[in-house]
Amino acid sequence: MTLFARPALRLTQSINGLFKSLLIASLLFSAQAMATELNLYTTREPGLMQPLLTAFTAETGIKVNTIFLKDGLAERVANEGQRSPADVLMAVDFGLLTDLAERGLTQPVDSPVLKAAVPAALRHAEDHWFALSMRARVFYLAQGLEQTRFTYEDLADPKWKGAVCIRSGQHPYNIGLISHMIAKHGEAKTEQWLRGVKANLARKAAGGDREVARDIMGGLCDIGPANSYYVGLMRSGAGGEEQKRWGAAIDVALPTFVDGGTHVNISGAAVAKYAPNKDNAVRLMEYLVSDEAQAIYARANFEFPVKAGAEIDPLIAAFGELTVDKLVLSQVAAYRKTASLLVDKVRFDD
Ligand code: FE
Repeated sequence: MTLFARPALRLTQSINGLFKSLLIASLLFSAQAMATELNLYTTREPGLMQPLLTAFTAETGIKVNTIFLKDGLAERVANEGQRSPADVLMAVDFGLLTDLAERGLTQPVDSPVLKAAVPAALRHAEDHWFALSMRARVFYLAQGLEQTRFTYEDLADPKWKGAVCIRSGQHPYNIGLISHMIAKHGEAKTEQWLRGVKANLARKAAGGDREVARDIMGGLCDIGPANSYYVGLMRSGAGGEEQKRWGAAIDVALPTFVDGGTHVNISGAAVAKYAPNKDNAVRLMEYLVSDEAQAIYARANFEFPVKAGAEIDPLIAAFGELTVDKLVLSQVAAYRKTASLLVDKVRFDD
């Protein structure tokens, strides 16, 4: 008996040992999971993000430390250098996101989930950033116009003389559109177009996008490029009673380029070059393109989700189906400098 007992005892001991080490491993693992976190640097208002971050933490156990930076995101991360605690960088405007990549502050992300959800035009050419939501550069219109289809090129047509309202040509929203025009038609044709639009202005290129609606209501102009989400902000009453009237006084069209789709700008996210929690960073970005997150994220600011099929706010869905132009925005971004010089050259804002 003793001959057999000894190996049996050894076996029992080793099973005990196995359980012990499994137990220790799982304790360590859960301790690690509890300490699991990531650092999010964002230029987006925290109020827009918080419900999603809470849901993400509930689902994954990953705590998100948010640092809200109204300005100077790139400077902050650049100054922190290799010691930067930043994992995810979140910003609005494809130009700004492309700057982050060009300054070497981001890293490429190879995620089948992100690639499947975000169309090629809406992610960096080398996957350094991914769009999470879109805002279309739409036309606000006087009500009752006979024309129903609009192109950006059309805005320079003399038939709109004295009828166009627009904010400063140097504003990033317009620089984005003008860069896109250069990418489509070249610099010379874009200069011609800009001169045509300038000649059609009803007033100085100034103010904000919402003032285009205000001035259409006031009878000053009939047409003007402005961002789609402001219509939601105005019509929902989020911007107050006065703006609600501006929103009610206009029609909205989704213009396209003559040979393409609609110009959109985006909000998006990148993984920081020296992200200490890279896996968690990718997990957050993948979470933000899930159907449920896309709907919440887009609707928080009346934007379009990037993922096909995700729910759109009814105020925005009412504009019709958005066909996003196919040019890759991180490549369009290369024309921003040229666009800005053209705006000055034609004295667009004078
Ligand atoms: Fe805006």
